Amino acid sequence: MRRYSVFAVAREGLRYHTGWERAWRSPQPKKKYDVIIVGAGGHGLATAYYLGKNYGITNVAIIEKGWLGGGNTGRNTTIIRSNYLQDPSAAIYDKALKLYENLSQDLNYNVMFSPRGLIMLAQTHHEVRGYQRTVMANQLQGVATEWVTPEQLKKLVPIINIHGPRYPVMGGLYQKRGGTARHDAVAWGYARACSDMGMDVIQQCEVKGVRTEGGKVVGVSTTKGDIDCDKLGMVVAGHTSVLAEMAGFRLPIESVALQALVSEPIKPCMDVVVMANTVHGYMSQSDKGEMVIGGGTDSFNNYTQRGSFHHIEETVRALVETFPMVSRLKMLRQWGGIVDMTGDRSPILSKTPVEGIFVNCGWGTGGFKAIPGSGWAMAELMAKGHSPLTQEFDMFRFREGKFIDESVAAGVAH
Ligand SMILES: Cc1cc2nc3c(=O)[nH]c(=O)nc-3n(C[C@H](O)[C@H](O)[C@H](O)COP(=O)(O)OP(=O)(O)OC[C@H]3O[C@@H](n4cnc5c(N)ncnc54)[C@H](O)[C@@H]3O)c2cc1C
Repeated sequence: MRRYSVFAVAREGLRYHTGWERAWRSPQPKKKYDVIIVGAGGHGLATAYYLGKNYGITNVAIIEKGWLGGGNTGRNTTIIRSNYLQDPSAAIYDKALKLYENLSQDLNYNVMFSPRGLIMLAQTHHEVRGYQRTVMANQLQGVATEWVTPEQLKKLVPIINIHGPRYPVMGGLYQKRGGTARHDAVAWGYARACSDMGMDVIQQCEVKGVRTEGGKVVGVSTTKGDIDCDKLGMVVAGHTSVLAEMAGFRLPIESVALQALVSEPIKPCMDVVVMANTVHGYMSQSDKGEMVIGGGTDSFNNYTQRGSFHHIEETVRALVETFPMVSRLKMLRQWGGIVDMTGDRSPILSKTPVEGIFVNCGWGTGGFKAIPGSGWAMAELMAKGHSPLTQEFDMFRFREGKFIDESVAAGVAH
C-alpha cells in the first residue's frame, strides 16, 4: 500500500487525483481463517490490527453485517479521556489514550486526535466529593488530572453560567490530555492497515450462527456461507447477547439506545469538552463549528438505533441552565446507537465457556475512547490466552461479585 504523505498529496494534486488506491480491499471470504473477528467497529478492527502488528497473526477475517464503522463507532460523540476511578479501568483507558496520542503516525492515517482538554462539572456536593476523590485516585494511578475551581472553569469555558439557580457549578475534574478524535477515521485507519497486512474485511456479511464441536468453536455460518476458524472474537457491542446465544452461553449485557445531536455550525466558542453529568448532558464543538451534544440512554431495552424523542428535549433543557446560549441554537440532526451496558459499567474482555471464543463488549456509553487499548489487550488475550490488561474484566466476575464499579465515572459520562 502506498503511504499517505505530503508528497503523495502534491503528486496526486498534479495528476488530478487519478492515482489514489482503494483504502481497503473488498474480498470474498476464504474457506478458513486462523481468527475470525465478528464486528468491524473500532474494537473489532483494532483487535485484528494488533493481532497482526504485535503477534504476526494475519490470516484473519473481520466480518461485518453492515458497513465498517457503521455501528456505535460511527455514531458516538468522540470523547476521549482516561480519568476513571478503579485501577484496572485507569490501566486500560490510559493505555488507549497513550496509543491515541500517536495513532495517526502509527496507522499513517490522520485520525484528527485533538487533546483539547476535558472537564467534568461538579454541580452537587456529592459530585464535588466524588471528583476530588477521582483526582486523588488518578494521582496514585499516574493519570494526570486536576481539580479546578468555578472561577478557573469560567476562564476555560467563557460561555458557561456558573451561577445556575438549580445546579451552580462548584468546580470540575479536568484532564488536559483528554479530547476528541474523528470517529470514522479511527475505523477507516485501522481497516486500511488490516487490509494492508493481508487481512480480509468482509462487509455486508451477517453472522447467523456459531458452529462448535465438542465444546470448541469450529466456525461461523454467515449470509455468505460457512467460514471455518480456530479462534473467534465476538466484538459486536449492542448485539453481543444475540451472538452469545448463538454460541450457547449468556452474558450480563443489556442493550439500550443512546443518542446524540448536533447544532447548526457556529463560530468557535468552546475549545474544551464539557460534561455535566448531574443535569445529564455534555457538549463539545466540532471542527465544522457544530455543537456536538449527548445525553443519557433510553431506560428500556431496545435495538432501534434511534432513541426516544423525549431524551433530546430533556438533554437540551438540561444544558440550557449551564449554557444559556444553547437556547438560541437550531439543532441540525439527531441519531442513535445501541450500546451494551453491564451492571458495573465496566467492559468485558474475556474467554468464554466455549473454547476458542473470546468476547469484547460492555463498553456501553463510553467505548470509543478505549478502542486502541481494548484492541491491544484483546489481541494479547486471543494470541497468548491471558493479558494483564484484561484479567480483571473477565465475564465470570459477575458470578463472583468482583465488580469494577465505574458508575460514577461512566454512568452518564462518555
Ligand atoms: C450516541 C452515542 C454517543 C457516544 N459517545 C461516546 C463518547 O463520546 N466517547 C466514548 O468513548 N464512547 C462513546 N460512545 C460509545 C462508543 O461509541 C462505543 O462504546 C464504541 O463505539 C463501541 O465500539 P464497538 O467496536 O464495540 O461496536 P460497534 O462500533 O457498534 O461495532 C460493532 C459492529 O458489529 C456489527 N455486528 C453486529 N452483529 C453482527 C453480526 N451478527 N454479524 C456481523 N456483524 C455484526 C455491527 O453492525 C457493528 O458494526 C457513544 C455511543 C453512542 C451510541
